[in-house]
Amino acid sequence: METKILPAEAGKSLAARLIRAGEVVAFHTETVYGLGANAFSDGAVQKIFALKGRPSDNPLIVHVHAGYDISALIDGEPPYAAALRQAFLPGPLTMVYPSTGKVSRFVSCGLNTLAIRVPSSPAAQAFLRETDLPVAAPSANLSKHVSPVTAGHVFDDFSGKIPLILDGGACSGGIESTVLDCTGEIPQILREGLVTRGMIAEVAGDCGVYRMRTGEKPRSPGMAYRHYSPRCDTACCKTAEEARALGAAERARGGKPVILCESKTAALVGDFETLDLGATGEVMARRLYALLRQGEKIATLLIGVEPEEQGGVMAGVLNRFKRAFGAE
Ligand code: AMP
Ligand code: MG
Repeated sequence: METKILPAEAGKSLAARLIRAGEVVAFHTETVYGLGANAFSDGAVQKIFALKGRPSDNPLIVHVHAGYDISALIDGEPPYAAALRQAFLPGPLTMVYPSTGKVSRFVSCGLNTLAIRVPSSPAAQAFLRETDLPVAAPSANLSKHVSPVTAGHVFDDFSGKIPLILDGGACSGGIESTVLDCTGEIPQILREGLVTRGMIAEVAGDCGVYRMRTGEKPRSPGMAYRHYSPRCDTACCKTAEEARALGAAERARGGKPVILCESKTAALVGDFETLDLGATGEVMARRLYALLRQGEKIATLLIGVEPEEQGGVMAGVLNRFKRAFGAE
């Protein structure tokens, strides 16, 4: 199969036709690229799992355009959910509701909830409006690999396997959406992202963060899996000194170490090849996945130095960083 990459606007009507025909199409969003299929079709949704090699108990997020009426898909909502929608949608916030079970049962993998997102990227909105169906979509990477933030990254993982990638350029957000459980008394974050706990608490009055207890069935199964793994050896450390020692040992072995770290650390390891994450949470979120994908192509050992930056979107950035480097 030939995989076409088309500019999002030029490709949206072909994309909508493919989705209606039960095919899988990759599309740009403001977080990462998604791998989408008609959420009402069992066969189309199952194709996503097969293409990615995704575990069959890891549920998908359904994407809709801003004018789509979700009332048939969800079984009621708490009062705070309307306020959160008003404040943050369209945008990088996924809301988990009680499900009516109208979409394919393969979307929620046996959970009685449904995760819904309204992406703000104009490319995603245009594609979803044209399609006018709920589109189930995980990130458009092979399972466990680093999420894609350019059309080229999607092509690297799915060339020859999907008919179309809608190219909307580089993703401005860079990490996946915040996943928020809206089935309880107060909202609870299942996955941290660009919409932070503080931002949600300000609107909803309160906001918890879910932590899986050992032995418990995970509320957001995806979080239990290894994720975001670059395809090279990795090491994780906390200081420039440790990174230099690891780098020197790798050189002595004849390998090529590359150090991925925030700007102030990059200034201390200049005698090694470095990938500079930047100095603020927003920039680190935007650069992280592209640098991990760049690093895996050039390094024999990719050394991550944990950023010291804290607060805001850093909760989401650090979570991905630690998983990518096997520190969590
Ligand atoms: P991905 O799009 O690949 O980043 O994965 C989607 C994420 O959303 C995973 O972490 C899932 O576990 C989570 N998710 C999707 N649907 C639900 C749901 N109904 N309840 C809880 N988490 C969900
Ligand atoms: Mg993913």
